[in-house]
Amino acid sequence: MIKLCKKCVTPSTRPRVVFNEDGICNACINFEEKKSIDWNKRKEEFKKIVIEIKDYKEKNNLDHDCIVPWSGGKDSTSIALKLKLEWDLNPLLVTCSPLIPNQVGQENRELLLQVGFDNVFVRPNQKIAKILARRFFIERGNPKVAWDAGVNSIPVKTAINFKIPFIFYAEHGESEYGGLVLHEDSKKIRDLEEVIEHQIGDFSENWVNDKVRIDDLYFYKFPSEEILKKNKIQSMYFSYFFKWSMADNYDYVKDVLPKFKTNEHGRTIGTFTDFDSLDDKIDDLYYYMQFIKFGFGRAVRDTSRFIQSNRMTRGEAIEIVKKYDGEYPEKNLSEVIEFLNMTISEFTEIVDMHRNSEIWINRGNFWELKNKLF
Ligand SMILES: [Zn+2]
Repeated sequence: MIKLCKKCVTPSTRPRVVFNEDGICNACINFEEKKSIDWNKRKEEFKKIVIEIKDYKEKNNLDHDCIVPWSGGKDSTSIALKLKLEWDLNPLLVTCSPLIPNQVGQENRELLLQVGFDNVFVRPNQKIAKILARRFFIERGNPKVAWDAGVNSIPVKTAINFKIPFIFYAEHGESEYGGLVLHEDSKKIRDLEEVIEHQIGDFSENWVNDKVRIDDLYFYKFPSEEILKKNKIQSMYFSYFFKWSMADNYDYVKDVLPKFKTNEHGRTIGTFTDFDSLDDKIDDLYYYMQFIKFGFGRAVRDTSRFIQSNRMTRGEAIEIVKKYDGEYPEKNLSEVIEFLNMTISEFTEIVDMHRNSEIWINRGNFWELKNKLF
């Protein structure tokens, strides 16, 4: 039986979600707890770090003072802008290319670079990227496993290569959206163990087979702890220092960059928002597979965040979830299956293979959720 958070609409099938005795999920609890945070104190803490960063830059004769892992989306763009405009820093933006880049993402990235930033853009070996996306789509129902590894390792590798030890990540996903917080400090400092365990799932060194050689995997291999220590890498979450909200980030970016684009179709497949995670054509499939595996999709995720920040009532959220959650990723599908090197029937077979039998029932010629959320 799927249990739902009494405040937002997060279901118990969400990995690592925990409910308290009142039936409230850990993301909602975290959101409430954040209200008692002394943000001025955190800002003072940040001020000291900025002084340290500027000092380090001068002493070491560097050109950039920190690294921002940057997709070009509203969250990382808002961080880059704030560091430059409000804190007078010169961040180096580091991007792991979307698997299947689209026009909107590219135009938005270009818009920020015009403001005056340097960007290291990494597009890994596409032959290998496709082999890995196909493999993990088949094995785990997630075509982005290797990409996740790249997103994690590329900024750190760049930090080491450019000798810039300070990295600013956006938000700590586990505490912001409901998950396991290994220890309090991991809300501030990025914990390698947590990243590997929750985001990557394993080490890229294990992916070697007759098609993939170890030297094909440079950008996916996370540096060892020894190398991280030697290079004094400090990965911090921006969301620890400043109140985090994806809607506020969007408003901020739109203010500074009025031409910043949202989804050209008015909203993204599977949800009602038009401003989140929209630079990769494979993302609609990625979120659809969450629906297949856990029985909830992107609308549940987005409306829950809106409820937490008082931008939506639970009743409104339920209507949106009924309407959009789990929408089939029709748009771009032909391009996506070509990328995965599959026929449509092979694709459908793999999707069905990942249907969790505890939540799905086969009605002959269609599949149905055993217990609809609403
Ligand atoms: Zn909740």
